[in-house]
Amino acid sequence: MIIWNRYAQIISRNFGLDKGHLDTSIHWRTTLTYYCILFIIPLVLIPYLPGILYAYKVDYLSVIILDTLAVGLLMVAGFWPNLRISLRKFLFVAAFYVASVGFLFIIGLSGPAFLYMLAASFFCTILFPVKYAFYPAIANVIFCVIIGLLIPFEVMLWKDDPNHNIPEFIAVASNLIFLGFFASALFPKVFDLLEKSIHNERILKNQLNQRNNDLENALEKVEKKHAELETFAYSASHDLQEPLRMITAFLQQLEKKYNPLLDEKGKKYIHFATDGASRMKDMITALLEYSRVGRFDGPKTSIDLNELVENTTRLFQVAIKEKKAKIIVHPLPIVASYELPISQIFLNLIGNALKYSKPDIAPIIEISGEEKETYWEFSVKDNGIGIEKGFHERIFNLFQKLHHKKDFEGTGIGLAIVKKCVENLGGKINIESKVLIGSNFSFKIPKK
Ligand code: ADP
Repeated sequence: MIIWNRYAQIISRNFGLDKGHLDTSIHWRTTLTYYCILFIIPLVLIPYLPGILYAYKVDYLSVIILDTLAVGLLMVAGFWPNLRISLRKFLFVAAFYVASVGFLFIIGLSGPAFLYMLAASFFCTILFPVKYAFYPAIANVIFCVIIGLLIPFEVMLWKDDPNHNIPEFIAVASNLIFLGFFASALFPKVFDLLEKSIHNERILKNQLNQRNNDLENALEKVEKKHAELETFAYSASHDLQEPLRMITAFLQQLEKKYNPLLDEKGKKYIHFATDGASRMKDMITALLEYSRVGRFDGPKTSIDLNELVENTTRLFQVAIKEKKAKIIVHPLPIVASYELPISQIFLNLIGNALKYSKPDIAPIIEISGEEKETYWEFSVKDNGIGIEKGFHERIFNLFQKLHHKKDFEGTGIGLAIVKKCVENLGGKINIESKVLIGSNFSFKIPKK
């Protein structure tokens, strides 16, 4: 095996196949020649060795010379360094013609001479460019004419062969010429089709590359815009805080100083204005928080989620006690990720599971996680009030609340933060929920 690999490597290097791949039919012809030579050199020994042994016994020196010449041509075609590929092809085909001439002189018309000549013309048509397709067929005609002219002169060794005669020669030669022309007409068509399909493949490849480039550029632009938008949201919400603080402060002054002068309507208006300002403050704070989360880079760290979830649930101690909640935490994996977004996800999901519980039923919250081959999968499941199917998508949007503030506190930003964190980690979040039965928020985070 090692010897074969070494041998194949030498031949391959001589054919320049180690220098990469050219998408043309020229490349395929070169590859085909490479394989022809690769296999023929060891295989040719099968007829060569017994052939010269026999020739030596019967004292046919010319057979030894012609056979050795044919094998030598193949060796040169395969092993001689720095030869042009077209010359290697020529030597390969020439070896067949030499063998053919040898058989013709020694064994005669009934031997394999014409078979080798036919094989030579087939190889010529396949290995050389299409424009030379008819050259071997024409060469066959010339050979046959020369042989035909030589027959009366009886220059061949088989002159004593009683079987050789003109009609037999005409029959064999005409078949050789017919098959030669047939191959010359047929094979180029095959290469034509191959060339076309290679050409189409190249066009498709170029188009695909172009599309990929366009897509990458578009993605880059989107990412840039996204970053700009986040910065804008951050600075806008940050800058809005100051004038809002001023409005709230003056409204409070107004209420305090001019309360006795105001009628009921005036007091109501001031109350609405203060309430609006307070809600706006909450929303701006939420927006600020939302624009801040999900910004993480640098190296990932190893996070023990059992620890992280335990610390998170500790933050809800009061609510857990009040509601007599039961938190079941199944063994969780250790993940390589960013701690901040992961803790934001669990904080919001566990907080919601506690918050949206049924009034008279103690919440049961189950947290589980599993390591799969390419990702981690987690779920936070509760037995709370559940969510109607029609709202399953909407609840992940910014400021989407399904309940009134007096029933459940909140700004409608928790799940938007969860979704942003999960997606920024390359994952996906999913919800299964039924009204009055409970909800199950599951999310996957890819390992890479
Ligand atoms: P917030 O809790 O501040 O209102 P969220 O974005 O966390 O905002 O949730 C959006 C809405 O989704 C909530 O108003 C609530 O109606 C619903 N919701 C979220 N989690 C649950 C849950 N575990 N069970 C029932 N409803 C939920």
